[in-house]
Amino acid sequence: MASERSARPTDGAGVTKRKNQGMNGNLSIGHYGGVEVRLNWSLLAVVALIVWSLTDGVFPSANPDLSHNTYLGMAVVASLLFLASIALHELGHSWVARREGIEVDSITLWLFGGVSQLKGRFASPGAEFRVAVSGPLVSIGLGVLFVLIAIAGLPSAVDGVAAWLGYINLILAAFNLLPASPLDGGRVLHAVLWRAKGDFAWATRVASEIGQGFGYLFIALGLAMFVFEGSFSGAWLAFIGWFLLQGARAEARYVATEQALGGLRVRDLMVRHPVTVDADSTIGRFMDDVAGSHRFTTYPVLDGGSPVGLLAFASVAAVPRSEWDMRRVRDTMFPLDDVPLLTEDETAVDALEELSAPTGNRGLVVDNGHLAGLLSITDIARALEVGRSPARGPSARPT
Ligand SMILES: [Zn+2]
Repeated sequence: MASERSARPTDGAGVTKRKNQGMNGNLSIGHYGGVEVRLNWSLLAVVALIVWSLTDGVFPSANPDLSHNTYLGMAVVASLLFLASIALHELGHSWVARREGIEVDSITLWLFGGVSQLKGRFASPGAEFRVAVSGPLVSIGLGVLFVLIAIAGLPSAVDGVAAWLGYINLILAAFNLLPASPLDGGRVLHAVLWRAKGDFAWATRVASEIGQGFGYLFIALGLAMFVFEGSFSGAWLAFIGWFLLQGARAEARYVATEQALGGLRVRDLMVRHPVTVDADSTIGRFMDDVAGSHRFTTYPVLDGGSPVGLLAFASVAAVPRSEWDMRRVRDTMFPLDDVPLLTEDETAVDALEELSAPTGNRGLVVDNGHLAGLLSITDIARALEVGRSPARGPSARPT
């Protein structure tokens, strides 16, 4: 199973918002060493699959003459310890990342293993290398530990669980060390290329192409296994290949976009002093006073001077005319929780990522609780087309 780390190379300038990030449907299971660990519901399917295959296949053949209930108990313990192993792998990345000065939001365990949400840039290829290898090193350590337990001559049930955990942790380490971005080995390769040539963007391009190559290879191999051998692992392998392909492409795209946007920040692209509406105003008033004289598609909504939401003209148009004088802007707007919140100092490429979320392609730029501006995905697209990139020495990416 893949365990993957997504470092969002933001500028790490103490950005403190971001509500709508990551995968939905996560259950927090607490903080470990200051890092929040969350479980994605897709894990239930994986755990069920592991319990089933261990109970009916792996344990009966490796440790014969035990009862079905014993196999089931062993399988439940083994799959829980397997989840804990993946969590420790990710925590390994997170703890080292923090030592390297990178902010860690949380780690999420899901279908393909774990993802650590890291924010900030690696200061050097060495830092990236250390963060990338820390997870596989944890897996190797756990693998060796479990193998030692397995050969210690404990009762058959304990020994079976330990042997499987030793095997799976070593497989996890080996798989993650494949030089296939976005797997850990791909990060290691990236760090090596970055150091060799001193060119971060070039290293990302090359690592991404190799990652995509692995993605295609896994898909082809998986499909062949599935078609010719009817093997379920083939479908799984193809699925992992597809996941790698998407991840590798996303990284290449991120760097290409970042280069195209130069050192632009939200403040360079946002609309200052946008036309605003009052939360308690009625839709009728809005139509008469605002929509009559402006033709914007969205309007920030203020309540006592503070931004509380975003009113889309499309939502207003959906309100029947007979309700215009009763309905308030407050009841028609997208509340703040559904709107991407940006800061002026954030890079345009990071803002683009937030605005690409399904929740909306417009974000409010907020500064100390006050509305500073409005930024839409089209503002960024326009900058991409124009391709203007002011040379901003100090704020450009490190190389
Ligand atoms: Zn990892």
